[in-house]
Amino acid sequence: MHRRLLLFVLLLAAITPFSLQAEWHSQQAAIMGTKIAVQVWQEDEASAQRAIEDVLAEFRRLDQALSPYIESSELYQVNLRAGRQPVVISAEFYDLLVDSLDYSKLTQGAFDITFASVGYQYDYRKGVKPSEEALAKSLPLINYHFIQLDPSTHSVSFAREGVHIDLGGIAKGYAVDRGIELLRRAGIEHALVTAGGDSRLLGDHMGRPWHIGIQAPRNEKGMAAVLPLSDGAISTSGDYERYFESDGVRYHHIISPKTGRSAGELQSVTILGPNATRTDALSTSVFVLGLKEGMALIDRMEDVEAVIIDNQGKMHTSKGLEHLQPSVAKGSATPH
Ligand code: ADP
Ligand code: MG
Repeated sequence: MHRRLLLFVLLLAAITPFSLQAEWHSQQAAIMGTKIAVQVWQEDEASAQRAIEDVLAEFRRLDQALSPYIESSELYQVNLRAGRQPVVISAEFYDLLVDSLDYSKLTQGAFDITFASVGYQYDYRKGVKPSEEALAKSLPLINYHFIQLDPSTHSVSFAREGVHIDLGGIAKGYAVDRGIELLRRAGIEHALVTAGGDSRLLGDHMGRPWHIGIQAPRNEKGMAAVLPLSDGAISTSGDYERYFESDGVRYHHIISPKTGRSAGELQSVTILGPNATRTDALSTSVFVLGLKEGMALIDRMEDVEAVIIDNQGKMHTSKGLEHLQPSVAKGSATPH
């Protein structure tokens, strides 16, 4: 009798990797100008809360270091001074600049953190945009080649005065990856960390994939598609996040480095990949590149897939997602 019970329990343990006493713990916060959500599967309530707090603290730390608005941030200080002299920066910030430049090279300049030389002149909440004269004057300052890194001193300088940088296209993904790393180190095996449009999943969801919904760009409550996903990252860049309209033109926060204006060809780009730094940088990049060039880039790479919604609302998928159907279901998936 005893042996039978043991066998049953062992069998149960073998088919369900989840501890039966554990449950989901989750928390949300507003950091980095967006909604952060952390969800972990844990037995012990106190240790779950501690792990979640550590992730939120990491987000706050990165916001303080990388925000373009906080005067004491490293990034703010670089924008203030690097046009005149080299500025010594932390290893972490330095590495993010190296990563950003790698994505600039990979995307032939579609991803370019010096977009901010023009970008800082937009205020999407107040409906402010640069005048044609201001745009013409600062457009030549968008050029990632102007970012000069010196590995011997860990410093950065700009080749021109007036160059600005902004890590808004990669920093949230990086923070999500840092959060997942902290959870993993705390021994957590199933978790979700989301920052606005950037998410990463650790493990699966009760022995099945997580189901992540892609927001329908022109219907706040609808989903364009639902993707099954375990142990990976997903980022969406959309023209509906931060924008204003003026004279029939939609001014939104993803800037084509060639024109200094909002990239107009697409409504949203979702990238699946191994980590959120990568999916974040690539979702912004593909948004700028447009359907043809963007999809070609994704199809050339082994480790990423894409769902692109064009400006007619039509969905396009990369080779690895050819069987994905547009969604009719609502509500069941975790919105992303
Ligand atoms: P979000 O999650 O904030 O919607 P996205 O991943 O869609 O972010 O990226 C948009 C952000 O990327 C913008 O707010 C801006 O900070 C930054 N960005 C805009 N255009 C570019 C560009 N061409 N290259 C790199 N970063 C950009
Ligand atoms: Mg992005």
